[in-house]
Amino acid sequence: MSSAIERDWRALAQSLRIDGRAFIDGKRVDAHDGAVFADVSPADSRVLAHVSACSERDVQLAIAVARRCFDSGVWADASGRERKAVLQRWAQLVRESADELALLETLDVGKPIADTTAIDVPGTIYCLEWFAELADKRVDELVQIDKTQLGYVTREPVGVVAAIVPWNFPLQMAMWKIAPALAAGNSVVLKPSEKSPLTALRIADLARAAGLPDGVLNVLPGDGAVGQMLALHEDVDCVAFTGSTAVGKRVMECAARSNLKRVWLELGGKSPFIVMPDCPDIGHAARSAAAAIFYNAGQICTAASRLLIHTDIYDVFMQAMVDEARRFVPGDPLDIGTTMGAIVDEQHLRRVLGYIDVGRTEARLRCGGRRVRESSGGLFIEPTIFERPAATARIAREEIFGPVLTVFPFDHFDEAIALANSSDYGLGASVWTSNLRLAHEASRRLRAGMVWVNGHDDSGDMNMPFGGIAQSGNGRDNSVHALEKYTELKSTLLRLG
Ligand code: NAD
Repeated sequence: MSSAIERDWRALAQSLRIDGRAFIDGKRVDAHDGAVFADVSPADSRVLAHVSACSERDVQLAIAVARRCFDSGVWADASGRERKAVLQRWAQLVRESADELALLETLDVGKPIADTTAIDVPGTIYCLEWFAELADKRVDELVQIDKTQLGYVTREPVGVVAAIVPWNFPLQMAMWKIAPALAAGNSVVLKPSEKSPLTALRIADLARAAGLPDGVLNVLPGDGAVGQMLALHEDVDCVAFTGSTAVGKRVMECAARSNLKRVWLELGGKSPFIVMPDCPDIGHAARSAAAAIFYNAGQICTAASRLLIHTDIYDVFMQAMVDEARRFVPGDPLDIGTTMGAIVDEQHLRRVLGYIDVGRTEARLRCGGRRVRESSGGLFIEPTIFERPAATARIAREEIFGPVLTVFPFDHFDEAIALANSSDYGLGASVWTSNLRLAHEASRRLRAGMVWVNGHDDSGDMNMPFGGIAQSGNGRDNSVHALEKYTELKSTLLRLG
């Protein structure tokens, strides 16, 4: 097999056959009313496919199918070993389709092919294999009350899970929901983002080929209205949502207005990256800080969009940052050497450029700030760094979700912690220091679901829960805790006398 470097991705892209139809009850189907939407690549504005635009009839059908399937017990009552075997076969088929999936993701979202082949697809397989392995490792609790009473506490699947996911890591975000939900025995209706529906549909084909019973997994492409219908539906037992804080709040409202379904929210962030003067390696830290905001063109929930540098090393570190930013050069995502891809669509491009305009009035522009490669027909913005805004500035507080960094100097550790915590969000935070005691204190004081010491977004290990606090949400993906999200506790008391 040739390596990703040797492959002719443009030729492969030309020969790709894309099926944009919805996936319901184990079959590819058109939307009930035949409606479609054009799925456009942000790399060159080419229409990739016409994708089913699902609406109410499709939502009703998919949920009815998922409910019937769940109640039949075909998956929910299968043993953990049986579920594990199917999920492992599915992982194997995803592995065999790795090139196709990486290519679809690159075309759909504009991510560099170097990233989708090295990160998105392998990360998706790892997640699926990890939860497959967990499917038959469940042991419940026994409570010995007295000689005549025995209690036991079991975990049961919740039922029908609606998974609503965003576009920035379409495959991985989908798998982070559906792998644990399926491992636990639920039926799932997945709603991918209208900006990136292709890989979610393709992996559903592979799930069926692996032997997942029809109706256990259904995929409904469509816009936010489809997500809202799922969140409002009386026959959905749990909604697992990854996306913006604003929409997450609406999802929670929908649950409150309907059947009080379980709601798990993985939302936005404005994560701080704190560099102390005893940072062990400034070059390495600057490289990491640049990757933490410019990787995926900054379209990443844990992006280190606030860089806090101690004044003793401010000038040296800033120069290193500007040098590192230059390594991220927007280019054709199909070129294996490209280090920075596209902004997902026109609407989001306008939003990010709008924030850059605001930034020009709130802070000093140190580098970047322009749209580039316009003649390619694609949507690209160069790495952008602003310095020294007021802590109250919009670019310092609001999630931009693009390649835009805001930098603050600080004099004291306490000041850095206060600045880091002055955010509505609480997703991730990193601190760079050689002082272990200080690192530990920082971890205790930082208001975030994840803290990294001398690293940022080191979230590659499935054993580590991923998620935030405050307005970054309430749920955790990955780890055994994610499996628990898709189960309910049942207490059974046996009177034996
Ligand atoms: P979004 O909130 O606009 O959309 C997310 C999903 O919700 C999409 O599928 C969309 O169609 C759907 N949706 C839209 N309106 C809806 C409604 N009223 N009811 C139900 N569903 C609705 O977010 P996005 O732009 O796709 O993604 C970017 C956001 O996702 C950023 O804020 C980012 O930080 C966040 N994110 C968070 C994590 C995490 O793990 N915390 C991971 C990735 C992305």
